[in-house]
Amino acid sequence: MSIQMFGLPVSRGVAIGRAVLVDSSRVDVAHYFVEPERLSGEIDRLRQARNTVAEELGTLKRDLPAEAPSELAALLDVHLMLLHDPMITDALRQWIDVRHYNAEWAVSAQTEVLVRQFDEMDDPYLRERKADIEQVAERLLRALAREGNTLPVVAHPRDFAGEDPLVLVANDIAPADMLQFKGSVFTGFVTDVGGRTSHTAIVARSMDIPAVVGAREASRLVRQDDWLIIDGDTGAVLINPSPIVLEEYRFRQRQSELERARLHRLRHTPAVTLDGVQVELLANIELPGDAPAALEAGAVGVGLFRTEFLFMNRGGDLPDEDEQFEAYRSAVEAMKGLPVTIRTVDIGADKPLDRMSVNELRHEHALNPALGLRAIRWSLSEPAMFRQQLRAILRASAYGKVRVLVPMVAHRREVLAIVDALNRAKQHLQDHAVPFNNVELGAMVEVPAAALAMPMLMQHFDFVSIGTNDLIQYTLAIDRADESVAHLYDPWHPAVLTMIANVISAANSAGKHVSVCGEMAGDTAFTEMLVAMGLRSLSMHPSQMASVKQRVLRTDSQRVARLLPSALQAEDPAQAWQAAMTGPNPKSSTH
Ligand code: PEP
Ligand code: MG
Repeated sequence: MSIQMFGLPVSRGVAIGRAVLVDSSRVDVAHYFVEPERLSGEIDRLRQARNTVAEELGTLKRDLPAEAPSELAALLDVHLMLLHDPMITDALRQWIDVRHYNAEWAVSAQTEVLVRQFDEMDDPYLRERKADIEQVAERLLRALAREGNTLPVVAHPRDFAGEDPLVLVANDIAPADMLQFKGSVFTGFVTDVGGRTSHTAIVARSMDIPAVVGAREASRLVRQDDWLIIDGDTGAVLINPSPIVLEEYRFRQRQSELERARLHRLRHTPAVTLDGVQVELLANIELPGDAPAALEAGAVGVGLFRTEFLFMNRGGDLPDEDEQFEAYRSAVEAMKGLPVTIRTVDIGADKPLDRMSVNELRHEHALNPALGLRAIRWSLSEPAMFRQQLRAILRASAYGKVRVLVPMVAHRREVLAIVDALNRAKQHLQDHAVPFNNVELGAMVEVPAAALAMPMLMQHFDFVSIGTNDLIQYTLAIDRADESVAHLYDPWHPAVLTMIANVISAANSAGKHVSVCGEMAGDTAFTEMLVAMGLRSLSMHPSQMASVKQRVLRTDSQRVARLLPSALQAEDPAQAWQAAMTGPNPKSSTH
């Protein structure tokens, strides 16, 4: 039976493929294809892991204290039985043999199948038994991780002729977990939760593959191996569509690929408006390895390097100064002399450090993490770590043009502490004769307090970058990661637009560089309006650059500037702007 549901479209295009269901607790399991000649080795790996777990369980049972309840021994027997159940072991072998999945993926895929079967059982006792399956799977995965793997990873399913494309379905994926899917086997994503500018959505967008978040029931309704269509333009998710619908979407998929190829040809064309105004298009990156894609897309620099991804999912073992320096230097060198704006760590809210860390626990217990110890607040609460990051960034400045950007600045006390920390970091390097160049210091404007205190910011910072994702969240009091209020997250709200316009105008009047690096910068629905506001620098995912450039090339900056005031004063700026531009509905696709 075919089913259709809707979520929030977060990354454009259409993906068609077979569903791979991943439980949120197993998202970090490696997913890759094993080359045909290595399949028997992979089956041996799994067998080895099974033997290890059997030994573990045997030892546990033997060492049970005499006073232990008898249920414990019985439970271990159930786990041993499951481990050796021929139906399960055969199925695991099939995933490897037939599908070429690596052993971890086979365990995770089969677990999903079994868990669903148990979920559907009427008998509550049997339903509870799914916990046993999950525990045995966890043990197997741990044993496989301990064993390690020497097999080469095959990055893409198309490396195997005849493989169906795969799309990932999960209840939720943490931003750092999402990052590990860059260049993975998946050609699309659906999650049950998340907002359009949640960091998971942002990472999905940076991967430039179709994605829908906030589809609520997706992971419950979709079954392993179902055929899925993910429409990243409308948010539609279709389960087991009819052949006619499938064909229609395949046609759309080809059209959108052609359109991308056409836009790609613009990558070396300078972004200049019809009336000759130059607009700087910069790239947002999450890891140094993203820099080549930024260059390839025609970026004239990096406007936002989200360094927090270097700090996440490390089990509390944060990168030291040298490791950070190497990462920053590698991004700076990859950009070949173009400016790189390195943002100090923005941990917190929907970007927890690590599930197991003290900080994560602290965040979990925070009443409202978005209003808690995140971004610069966190950095200033760990001054040694903050200075260490500043030293690493300063050292990278010896290899190219570097700017430092600080997230979520709001208070003068913070501003003074930031300036002091940077001076100390410089002094430390000077004292140790470590070379560095001059770096400009910038503030992100992402809290209304900062937007309303521009004169104070302009006193202390060389530039500002408007983080519209958070500015919208904090202006409208809408949690950007919460799909239940996603309909109220509105970049067209007059309060938001007025605030952005005022920040741009204040920075321009002070002669300071101003950029927008939130998702609005990459949304073509806002290109003309931002240019009309006087913005000359936008930072976005490399994949969005060509379509934004196309808009810039078609914009008359003087005309749009004349149209702006009445749109900003309108009750419904989206509608007023649409009417003024006489174009299609400017309601955005990514917001
Ligand atoms: C923003 O808030 O707009 C921004 C660019 O920062 P992040 O999305 O990483 O919070
Ligand atoms: Mg932000």
